[in-house]
Amino acid sequence: MDVEIRFLGAAKSVTGSKYLLRIDGEAYMVDCGLFQGPSNMRRRNWEDVVEHPDKIKEVFLTHAHIDHSGYLPRLVKKGFKGKIYCTKATAALLKIMLLDAGKLQEEEAKWAYKKGYSTHKNPEPLFTTKDAEKCLELVHTCEYDQTVLVNDRIQLVFRNAGHILGSAMIEMKLIGDNMSKEILFSGDLGKHKQHMHEAPFVKESTDVLLVESTYGDRNTPDIDPISAFGEIINEAVADGCLIIPSFAVGRTQQILYYLYRLHKNKQIPENIRVFVDSPMAINVTALYKNFKSDHKLEIEDKNHSVFDAAFIRYINAQEDSINLNLIRKNTIIISASGMVTGGRILHHMYHRLPNKKDTILFVGYQAEGTKGREILSGENDVSIFGINVPVKAKIRELDGLSAHADMKDLHQWLGNFKEKPKRTFIVHGEEMAAQALQNHLVSEEWSNVIIPDFLESFKLFQSI
Ligand SMILES: [Zn+2]
Repeated sequence: MDVEIRFLGAAKSVTGSKYLLRIDGEAYMVDCGLFQGPSNMRRRNWEDVVEHPDKIKEVFLTHAHIDHSGYLPRLVKKGFKGKIYCTKATAALLKIMLLDAGKLQEEEAKWAYKKGYSTHKNPEPLFTTKDAEKCLELVHTCEYDQTVLVNDRIQLVFRNAGHILGSAMIEMKLIGDNMSKEILFSGDLGKHKQHMHEAPFVKESTDVLLVESTYGDRNTPDIDPISAFGEIINEAVADGCLIIPSFAVGRTQQILYYLYRLHKNKQIPENIRVFVDSPMAINVTALYKNFKSDHKLEIEDKNHSVFDAAFIRYINAQEDSINLNLIRKNTIIISASGMVTGGRILHHMYHRLPNKKDTILFVGYQAEGTKGREILSGENDVSIFGINVPVKAKIRELDGLSAHADMKDLHQWLGNFKEKPKRTFIVHGEEMAAQALQNHLVSEEWSNVIIPDFLESFKLFQSI
């Protein structure tokens, strides 16, 4: 058996996770994500980096985040007909997220047509909700920690990655003619100590490792995020509103849980109002109730869900979302997307950024090229809906909430390997972060630690 890997994304960057494996000439894919962020990155979504999508046998998915799953409908549109292997919670999340992504793509194409943004006369969406629906029919669900027989040459085991609901690292066992080998895809790893999930599964050996490096060069502060959050809220809502751009999956539920605790302990104003203004976040919040064993958030208090507390309201209708712009104080608005790249958060930013009484609170990683990064890095104005909006609102950041392992978590997880992998690829990190992790591993006497380039290929095994 000959095995080759090609890095179709998340190589010296954090989005577009996609790895193409050629196993004796047959193609498989691990993760199938969209590129996000600056336009030179997003343009890659339109390039046919996968030569023959119809010839890809199967896709194996670590988790539902769009930068790992959002290219799937495009792959289906281009002819992919195989199965998409993932955990049950990932499948449930995909249903919400891919349909939403399809709708967004359609809206963007319409908008580009109306405003004449596109260089094409009739701008096409990357994919449609129909493509997303077709894609969902191909999903094949797997249990954690069970061996999945893909065929007589490939076996998989999904292990908890502690990152988001349903997230997994994938152990891929390849049964060759002469011997077996294992590749471990870490996917995105969660923190060691956290409120949401158990720590990532401990691995002690593998032949080839792909490890993420989002926070390879920095630690997130070791603070009690709940009390830090409480302080920010009290400062922000006395004479203004607090706007939180939040990821619909995980972060929103974590924040709601913290708000519940703060409110119950009377650490924030009793009459505060909290609005969750994101249909996707609302649907995902419901999933947390269905997949209780997949997370460790204590979402029930005396048989009542913390998500149904009276001070929390869920906004579905667009009109109600727009009406939130009229509220002046004592209010928290949680809206998506988390990096201010699209969705209802855009109109909140448009209205709140020029107002110095309001506060914007970032609660997650802001990738290069996103509006979130621009605002956080202190730009005086940002372009929203094609208009330059001055940044007068207070900008705050709550750092300890990331769903990603930070530097010391990564070091700890990698330190579990009793036998060092023969080859390690550092992926899913901007260049500085990937390099810092590479330096660390080299100092720990790991050999063959590689930071692959976009579209670079490597022969992993020959004649095994
Ligand atoms: Zn992720």
